[in-house]
Formats: sequence, C-alpha cells, structure tokens
Amino acid sequence: MRLLKLLLFLAPWGVAGAEPGKFWHISDLHLDPDYKVSEDPLQVCPSAGSQPVPNAGPWGDYLCDSPWVLINSSIYAMKEIEPEPDFILWTGDDTPHVPNERLGEAAVLGILERLTRLVRGVFPDTKVYAALGNHDFHPKNQLPAGSNNIYNQVAELWRPWLSNDSIALFKEGAFYSEKLPGPSGAGRIVVLNTNLYYSNNEQTAGMADPGQQFRWLEDVLTSASRAKEMVYIIGHVPPGFFEKTRNKAWFRKGFNEEYLKVVRKHHGVIAGQFFGHHHTDSFRMFYDEAGAPISVMFLTPGVTPWKTTLPGVVNGANNPGIRIFEYDRATLSLQVRSPGSAGAGGGGWEGPERLAASPNSLQLIHPLLAQ
Ligand SMILES: [Zn+2]
Ligand SMILES: [Zn+2]
Repeated sequence: MRLLKLLLFLAPWGVAGAEPGKFWHISDLHLDPDYKVSEDPLQVCPSAGSQPVPNAGPWGDYLCDSPWVLINSSIYAMKEIEPEPDFILWTGDDTPHVPNERLGEAAVLGILERLTRLVRGVFPDTKVYAALGNHDFHPKNQLPAGSNNIYNQVAELWRPWLSNDSIALFKEGAFYSEKLPGPSGAGRIVVLNTNLYYSNNEQTAGMADPGQQFRWLEDVLTSASRAKEMVYIIGHVPPGFFEKTRNKAWFRKGFNEEYLKVVRKHHGVIAGQFFGHHHTDSFRMFYDEAGAPISVMFLTPGVTPWKTTLPGVVNGANNPGIRIFEYDRATLSLQVRSPGSAGAGGGGWEGPERLAASPNSLQLIHPLLAQ
C-alpha cells in the first residue's frame, strides 16, 4: 500500500483551438500528528482508537490517519509529476479521526495552517481552490451557517489564494466563487460548503437554506450562463449515498433534493463537480427527469489510508491517492476515454488499466516516498 495511486484522466482534443491544461485534485489528507512507529501496538496512532496496530510502517497504516511524511511525500510527488498545474483543488478534511476531546479549535486551526503552509511552500505560485471538510471544524461536523472564528481564521490563512470578495464571503459561510485562470476567461469555479447539508450537522438541521448558499449558487450559475461561462463546482461532502453503506445518505433529504434540483436546472453550465469525503475513487451521475445523464461528480480518493469505522462497511481502508485531470481550458471539457477508444469523438471511461500500465508514474512516486 505504500505506493500512491496516480489517477490520470485524458481528454481527447478534437476541437480546433482547444487548449489542454492540467489541474490537481487532493482531498482528505487527515494528518495524525501523533503517528509514530512504535513496538507497542496500542501506541501507534490516536486515530486507531482502541484498536491495536501491529507492524506499523513509517509511511502509515490502514488503521491510522496519515503520518506527516505521507502527506509531505504526496505534495512533493505532485510537484515532481506536474509542477505547473493551472490550479489545485483541495477539498478538505485535514484533521485526524479522533474524539472532539482530543482536538479543539486551536488544534484544528494548527493542522490547517501546517498543511496550508506545506501546499503553499511546494506550489508558491499556484492558485489553490480549497474547501472545508466536516473534520475542519471544532466540534467536528458542526459547521455553522454564519460567521465564526474558524471561518475568519481560515479566510485569513487562505488569503493569498482568495480575492477580496471571496474572503468576505468565506467569513460568512465558507463558500465563494471566482473566475478560473486562463486566457479565455470563460471558466469559473464555485467552492461550496456542503458540510451545511451534512446529516451529522446539528447546527443547520431544520433550516431551509443554511447560509443562503442555495440562493447564492442559483445566482452564480444564472450569471455564469448569461456570461457564457462554464463552471466547476467543488466541495467536500457529496450528495447521494456512500457505495459501501447504501442506506447511508450524507445530505439531509431536503438538501439532497435541492442540490439535485439545482444541477438539473443549470447542468448546461456545469462542466464538472469535484468532491471528496468518501476516501474512495468514485463518481456520481446526475440524471434529468427523463433519465438522461446530465452531469457527473468525481469523488477523489483520500490521502489517508484510514479504515472507516462506519458500521457495516467491509474493506473500509484505502490506499493513498492523488489525482490529476487534463481539461480543455476553453470549454472546461473533461471527456475521459480509454486508450483503446482513441478517435474522433470517442468517449468512455478510462479504466484502472491505465494505472497498472503507468509504471513510469509509479516509479516516479516510489523514490519520493522513500525519501
Ligand atoms: Zn475524510
Ligand atoms: Zn469528510
């Protein structure tokens, strides 16, 4: 498990004048600052709870959240593989899976600051679009619909990546929208705080539109349509079900319906959706009322290998993953295809064989992990 998975999507460039660009997507880094290789299986990592962790390795363990060296190598591996992405998407969850009593506001902010400093240090000139996860708050999951100290502090921490308008919005509700960099000026990013819709968030239970984020999103997408922009939407907690526990929806029911309604109405300007939280490599398809596919959401694997403690889940651990996308800078198109279906207009899924067939990528990462 010590090798990072590198998932590469390739877009076919059939359109005249299309400009391919690349961007990274990372999520669920979940640093466990107290991870240590210990002979005592009960002393390896607080994120294992009371489970013993025998034979823990220096790069981590399936029962634990990420040691610093794993996160550090992941970010440096990104730099080695693609040092000049157009931008980086970072969709949250930075702290370990430990009880609230073991963290606190200062500890949560300290971890966010440590990871932000790492990303900025390695990619000093790259724009990063970052969203908060349900673990990036104290107490966890309880992200409020209005301003608070954590939103304020994080907005200041991420100031170098944000416009003044975004900073003001972030301080109110931890969501914002900006134009994407690029010559066409026709791309826009929307960063959502979908933790407001999370079923474990008691702060927003019973609200119709927490933080008035849905109303804001409607306005942003309507304006994008008028301005002939295409939009990427990113966030942490995704709508829909967790495929490993199919009776488990993340959003409260009304919020899930509302999100689906927005996508159905505005799918014409939504070029892609990028979320995390599952730690698995997954995706969601959105369909219109007639059952035709209209939009896709990519769920990126997490960096943490931590095995979920959700009841009923089998094989709940994951290998660490980082993901790079290729896209068309003019249209934001992300058409994925298998190498075998090359040719004009060939669409389709680029399967895991690409991963297996990429010894160069794995070779590239391996020495980095060994540093
Ligand atoms: Zn997570
Ligand atoms: Zn999460």
